[in-house]
Amino acid sequence: MVALARALSGPRLRWWTLAPALLALLLAALWFGQTRAANSGLMRVRLGGDRQSTRVVVELDRSARGELVSDDKDPSAVVLALSGVNASGERRGSGAGLVRDWRVDDGLGAVRIRFNVSRQVTVKRRFLLPPGDGVKVYRYVMDLEAREGAALPEPPQRGAAARQMVQALSVAPAKTGKRLVVIDAGHGGKDPGASGAAILEKTVTLAAARSLKAKLEKTGRYRVILTRSTDVFIPLPERVAVARRSGADLFISMHADSGTERSLHGASVYTLSERGADRAARKVMTGGDWLAGGSQLSGRDPQVNRILLDLTQRATQNRSSAFARVLLDRLDGRAPLLQKSHRDAGFVVLLAPDVPAVLLEMGFITNPQDEATLTDPVRRERLVDGVASAVDDYFESERRSSTLAALP
Ligand SMILES: [Zn+2]
Repeated sequence: MVALARALSGPRLRWWTLAPALLALLLAALWFGQTRAANSGLMRVRLGGDRQSTRVVVELDRSARGELVSDDKDPSAVVLALSGVNASGERRGSGAGLVRDWRVDDGLGAVRIRFNVSRQVTVKRRFLLPPGDGVKVYRYVMDLEAREGAALPEPPQRGAAARQMVQALSVAPAKTGKRLVVIDAGHGGKDPGASGAAILEKTVTLAAARSLKAKLEKTGRYRVILTRSTDVFIPLPERVAVARRSGADLFISMHADSGTERSLHGASVYTLSERGADRAARKVMTGGDWLAGGSQLSGRDPQVNRILLDLTQRATQNRSSAFARVLLDRLDGRAPLLQKSHRDAGFVVLLAPDVPAVLLEMGFITNPQDEATLTDPVRRERLVDGVASAVDDYFESERRSSTLAALP
């Protein structure tokens, strides 16, 4: 630097003659900066979805600005440039859904990730998610959608190299330890729920919830929290808050139906409807403190909140539906099912955006046979057994799919 200063003040040297040297210095500084940061930046690329829509999640240890490097003449790839990022994790990987495979190219102070696609795609949206909701990293998310009828030719096989690139990436990391199930006994206290000829809904739901808790705990695989274990009144939002605060893996709300027709009978399962999801979104957006579960959603930019909510809700709704299907399957034969037994609803108790949730109507308390089933401990046990084995199946299949996804 001293030499440079002397040179600059030298009598015969004009500053611009030094321009190439200055440029070289600048580049060297940039390069140095980049090498120093070489152990951080891009950490992991995860993919999920199908051949219609695919979500790409790039995990980063810092905030970054993303840009699409579009090349209309080459529809076989989507190239995402992330500035201020260096590649430190995987350099390439296999695809999922619309993405065949991906590859990282380093640039100066930026990386380019090339996602080779199997069909022509549109980048529907992309955004950066800051750490939150139990995730410690930044996530750059990109949603790809297939364009109509635009299949691309298969690339040539690359044998061993291609096999080497096959490292399936699971979207949800496999959890270890006991799963946490929150069981919500509907109604209670001053709210009796529906009335049968001889018994109240709040009594039936509590009995079923307690026996389900005992069954699940006996397996040693679950921790179980009841939203109420006695005949007390608990407001609906508080029931949701219990699930969120505790970080539940599954929320089951137990109820008994009532109908004006005494002939109506059978169990049914509800999951959150689209409308219910919108309602949850609005509640969160308007800053209602009803989700007082220590939510990560509060105090953030509203747009980020909306995206976060959307992201968690999609996965949650899928999981809720998956559990609802297993549950109906397991109840079938153990208890009569209502004709359209999987229904959508906007029940408040199903509104936790990040906990898979179902509401089980165990039968019609207004139907004599159903009431007898719900009242008789032996028959009720059979129904509860069905719920318990559905819980087992659900977590087992979740575990299996994440194990499969992690295999080379
Ligand atoms: Zn009810």
